[in-house]
Amino acid sequence: MKVAIIRSVCECQARLVAEIDAGGRAANGRAEMQGEALVAPANALNNEDEYFDVGWQCPFCGRNTLRSFYRGALAWRPVSSDSAA
Ligand SMILES: [Zn+2]
Repeated sequence: MKVAIIRSVCECQARLVAEIDAGGRAANGRAEMQGEALVAPANALNNEDEYFDVGWQCPFCGRNTLRSFYRGALAWRPVSSDSAA
């Protein structure tokens, strides 16, 4: 199994982070602003495509923030199945 970290910025300037796995599923979404980190549920859309979208529910401003990513540009790293949650 492998995962890639994706990052973006919300309109409210919170930093949005999530993990994407090889199957295109988003997990561990979170948002960080001014040293505070909160859970930000993330969902991947069109995740079979080279280009896909990830939506975060930003806990700081309540927006549903949608960002596009290119799969080929992601830095994948292996994760042992033992450590998978
Ligand atoms: Zn926000």
